[in-house]
Amino acid sequence: MQLRRSPRPHPEPERRPASRPAVELRQVRRCYGRGPGAVQALRGIDLVLASGSFTAVMGPSGSGKSTFLQCAAGLDRPTGGQVLLGGEEITRLNENQLTRLRRSRIGFVFQSFNLLPSLTVQENVLLPQRLAGVRRDRRQAQELLARVGLPEHGRRRPGQLSGGQQQRVAIARALITRPEVVFADEPTGALDTTSAREVLGLLRGVVDSMGATVVMVTHDPVAASHADRVLFLADGSLAGELWRPDPQTVADRMAALTSAGRYATGAAA
Ligand code: ADP
Repeated sequence: MQLRRSPRPHPEPERRPASRPAVELRQVRRCYGRGPGAVQALRGIDLVLASGSFTAVMGPSGSGKSTFLQCAAGLDRPTGGQVLLGGEEITRLNENQLTRLRRSRIGFVFQSFNLLPSLTVQENVLLPQRLAGVRRDRRQAQELLARVGLPEHGRRRPGQLSGGQQQRVAIARALITRPEVVFADEPTGALDTTSAREVLGLLRGVVDSMGATVVMVTHDPVAASHADRVLFLADGSLAGELWRPDPQTVADRMAALTSAGRYATGAAA
């Protein structure tokens, strides 16, 4: 299968300006359950994600991608190790502090958009400010809606928009608190090819023009090719990375990881 090459030139990693870490993982482990049935979902991940970078996370099913995202975003507590956001160790925070941190310093984009159907588009975009207890800035919401190409849609309800438009609203919502990091979990998984390309272009744009940091879990090599760097997970460990990824190379790496996993579990026999 020939995959379309991403037209955008990615900056060489060595030419990137030195940038402070937005996210850092130090020996992060996550074990589900205890005893003989325990599952090691993350087996000691060490990682630095620079501020202003766009990272894709890939791996076979069950390799630990969701667990990684949840631990890195402060939605789940690792069993061991440290997660730092902007240099601050978030694994030390209590639940209230973590909730405040998620509301003010992190943006989330989900596969299923997660917009509230009873609110207007603009109210959805303003929701993180409302939850964080800060003044709702309607002008900023309008600017973000314009940035995602929906300047006239603020008064509509999510149900009146296409899937791609709803995901663009979700991106505007993720950006309203000017988060340090946006975590996106399969953001194009429910979209057609054209809408997916628009959403990926937007994520690329918020990194390039707004200096945002984006971390995106995806199973799609074309989606991953919009990132600066792809991290591959296999069986809870980092199994490699690719800078300036192109879809074909990403797909080849994924195929190799998937077949290696099948041999390891005997499934290919
Ligand atoms: P991925 O997102 O790559 O499919 P996950 O992070 O969802 O992988 O899962 C990694 C491993 O952890 C898998 O073996 C999965 O079955 C296991 N796992 C995930 N969540 C739980 C849970 N809540 N309880 C027990 N095992 C889990």
